[in-house]
Amino acid sequence: MLGGVCGTDLQLIQGYAGFEGFLGHEFVARVTQCQDPPWLGKLVVGEINVGCGHCPECAQGDARLCPRRTVLGIRGLDGAFAESFQLPLANLHPVDDLDPTLSVWCEPLAAALEVRQHLPASCKVLILGDGRLGSLIALGLQADHEVTVLGRHPGKLDRLRRLGLHAVSEVSGSWPAVVEATGSAQGLSQALQMARAHGTVVLKSTVARPEAVDMTPLVVNALTLVGSRCGRFEPALQALRSGLVDPRPLVDQVLDLSEFPGAIGRRDWVKVLLRG
Ligand SMILES: [Zn+2]
Repeated sequence: MLGGVCGTDLQLIQGYAGFEGFLGHEFVARVTQCQDPPWLGKLVVGEINVGCGHCPECAQGDARLCPRRTVLGIRGLDGAFAESFQLPLANLHPVDDLDPTLSVWCEPLAAALEVRQHLPASCKVLILGDGRLGSLIALGLQADHEVTVLGRHPGKLDRLRRLGLHAVSEVSGSWPAVVEATGSAQGLSQALQMARAHGTVVLKSTVARPEAVDMTPLVVNALTLVGSRCGRFEPALQALRSGLVDPRPLVDQVLDLSEFPGAIGRRDWVKVLLRG
């Protein structure tokens, strides 16, 4: 198993969603038990939402919005940082052809690429946040949009510049599209203030301790506010296989699973992978 530590894991540790159990929802792992023998030994990534199978959302094939879903390592289902964990076969995608240091990015990249659904074609996009998700969204949008990343960490901004991105610590003006990926409670307020009239704000952060937000700019500037969570795996796998996105330069550390506590709270790291 190779797993990724994500901002959501850090929020869960602080009490987000009241989850108790093993964390871990970004992974590539080998199938060790399965009723369908051809799957045994395959290297797989897995969609993390497990639906009830009966509600209207599940009937449309989208377990992400099932009201009775469990979510790997997030809601009612032990995650990938356990000795072993379970997912339905329907959630799995074989990735024996991909380098595990690439396929481990499938889940967060799927969430990052989901932003594309909400943006006008080829527009100027301001991404708030130079961390894990902001960086990944920037890499995912880079090919089709004019991307600026606004961040606060000189080292992280430098790394994004080396990856060919426009990464800055200050911006001016108002933007046709703002993607909020700060992971902080203040991110939404900031995003609403930076969007221009009739602009789009895509909200990505989930936070353990939300704050009150002044929604006036949403009304005055007739903004469109979109919440965006998990994405589908197929576009992410396609982007990884084709080389459209290569997030490997974002990795700071690969640690043994037992070293997980050391991976928590290192604000200077963008991405930590765990090997189990
Ligand atoms: Zn359902």
